[in-house]
Amino acid sequence: MKEVRASRHATYRQVKREAAEKLSGQGVPDADIDAGLLLEYASSMDRTQLLLREEEEVPGAILSRYREAVRLRSCRIPLQQITGEADFCGIRFEVSDQVLTPRQDTEILEEEAVKQIRVLQRKACAGEACGAWKDRRPVRVLDLCTGSGCLIIAAAKLCPGIEAVGADISGPALDIARRNAENSGTDVTFLESDLFEKVEGTFDVILSNPPYIRTGDIGGLMDEVRDHEPHMALDGGPDGLSFYRRIVSLAPRYLNPGGCLLFEIGFDEGQDVTRMLREAGFGNVRIIRDLNGLDRVISS
Ligand code: GLN
Repeated sequence: MKEVRASRHATYRQVKREAAEKLSGQGVPDADIDAGLLLEYASSMDRTQLLLREEEEVPGAILSRYREAVRLRSCRIPLQQITGEADFCGIRFEVSDQVLTPRQDTEILEEEAVKQIRVLQRKACAGEACGAWKDRRPVRVLDLCTGSGCLIIAAAKLCPGIEAVGADISGPALDIARRNAENSGTDVTFLESDLFEKVEGTFDVILSNPPYIRTGDIGGLMDEVRDHEPHMALDGGPDGLSFYRRIVSLAPRYLNPGGCLLFEIGFDEGQDVTRMLREAGFGNVRIIRDLNGLDRVISS
């Protein structure tokens, strides 16, 4: 009897607690946080609104949506694939199992790209006054392996006035990237292209977070990543460096003088990519570390 009454009159607080217990029982990391985020999703309310209603009864429609979402999460479907969205640099992006979920670590690459783009934009403004840089405006930015489009869309949002191009080999990923650009009100051209294959013209900044996991290491990734994220967005070939090799060998043809090339890299790939860049004639190679002190971004 008691149980029946409890479930008929379940409050937001109760259902959230039950969900957290279920998720933690299934070994989901951060079960409490995920239970809360899924409740926000199922109820279309934010945390504050939910806290205000903590002791209120959860309407049936919300409860069944919540239970289904919690069930999926307990099967280790990534949270963002259940809610269908992920935050990157404060912008909301649609995601699915067709694209790599934008990672917070990748915001380091974004920050560096934005810094470089702004320097070039300032130079362009200064140059305009004295007649130089005239043919080089606006600053042109290319994102290879764009996936959800998070990097190039955030760049277009944070550096208004750039000419932004995103390329990816996956048509389904580009459908998502195009919707993301539209939803964020940015103007980005997307190309279905194997790296530079369909790219035209030259650019001031080329950036990429290419697949960089060694093929042999894919099996050892976290279950959720290995089982639900697209391998083509992760697999960097036998030594993890295939995409860097291909991009570095072609980039000189597509970079304007004074332009820069920026990559996200695996924590143990800094030396190899540095060597690759130097051998291809790139100067001023710089590695940027993440908050854990690991190599994360390379710029040249
Ligand atoms: N550019 C996207 C991101 O950084 C996708 C990267 C990829 O698919 N390897 O999240």
